[in-house]
Amino acid sequence: MPKSPSTLPTVKVSPRGASRLKAGHVWVYRSDILSASDVPPGSLTAVTDQRGKPLGTALYSSSSQIAIRMIADEPVKDFPALLRERVVAALAYREKIVRDTDAYRVIFSEADFLPGLIVDRYNDILSIQILTQAMDADPVRQILISELTERLHPASIVERVDPRVRELETLPPRESALLQGDKHSTIITMNGVQFHHDALAGQKTGAFLDQRENYAAAASYAHGDALDVFCYQGGFALHFLPRCASVTAVDSSRPALEIADQNAALNRREKHPEIEWIEANAFDLLKDYATSNRRYDTVVLDPPAFAKTKRDLAAALRGYKELNLRALKMLRPGGILVSCSCSYHISSFNFLEMLASAALDARRSLRLIEVRGQAKDHPILLSVPETAYLKCVIAYVT
Ligand code: SAH
Repeated sequence: MPKSPSTLPTVKVSPRGASRLKAGHVWVYRSDILSASDVPPGSLTAVTDQRGKPLGTALYSSSSQIAIRMIADEPVKDFPALLRERVVAALAYREKIVRDTDAYRVIFSEADFLPGLIVDRYNDILSIQILTQAMDADPVRQILISELTERLHPASIVERVDPRVRELETLPPRESALLQGDKHSTIITMNGVQFHHDALAGQKTGAFLDQRENYAAAASYAHGDALDVFCYQGGFALHFLPRCASVTAVDSSRPALEIADQNAALNRREKHPEIEWIEANAFDLLKDYATSNRRYDTVVLDPPAFAKTKRDLAAALRGYKELNLRALKMLRPGGILVSCSCSYHISSFNFLEMLASAALDARRSLRLIEVRGQAKDHPILLSVPETAYLKCVIAYVT
């Protein structure tokens, strides 16, 4: 267990690092660390400015570019108690804001003041992701798991491992696995729509929970012939069934489409259309469809993150523009475009500018109906801009 505060090692940060913290951010990059001698990897550490003035308490990583992540702006007397309090506070927030779902993000790292920890609830299964040395420490894991178990009584807890993250944090390799219980698949219900969930399969922690509220919003405008591009396991497409005459959904991943088809079976109703699932490269398919004069009333674009770093920005914007341009050309007048980006590096401003430019080239006009972000269970901490990443624009096209 991290040591008591009197014996905590100290990290000294540069004036630039200190002003970042004073502005409310919680990260200090390695280039802004003046000294961190004798700070063990993953330990709790006191943080001071250049002159030794205390700035608070942080979690230290010996290898990440983000060297420290603040956990408190004061000395931490009892770290286990603090961890438990933070879990309880995260749950209290969800109680207030989560509606119409048994699947949601329980803990969102920095935004819940537990940097390096993500916990998602899928009905009776909890899925956890550990992203830093500090959260990976055995005593920390035990506290978090015991608190989550006590509060939520899950049938099981699964750990999802991103091998790349463990490598960056120089943590020993680990496999995704059940940590507790033996159930790893279940059925979740969001906005009344059911989905199969296998906690040990799929992308991310298995579903795109951050889009949950956008599914419902988009469905309230969807009509006519709908096309869901980058559909994964059918999030948008399934929500459109009660309102659309036809639904076509495209993804390049066959395993995702297989689950999508099982999800369609779960939600089948007599009056619903059948969804046509298409395995294809979305760029090629949109090109074909546009030239063969296909027309739709509703198009969703929800591509993977094109800009993984700032350097990819220009190329990413070109990629988004190409997709949006093609979608706009295919939309009938009065159609609905639902256009998303999950790249943090693309700001809302960049994204809207790209859309305006695509509309100009396509000779269409766009009226913004809603400019949305991630679901509220993925809170945005205003002082930490990196916590806001998803953009979802719903527009009326003429
Ligand atoms: N809309 C989905 C999430 C999409 S995630 C939901 O709400 O659940 C992005 C998806 O894009 C993934 O399913 C991935 O398999 C797919 N994908 C990535 N590159 C692709 C490409 N070139 N063509 C088609 N699909 C692609």
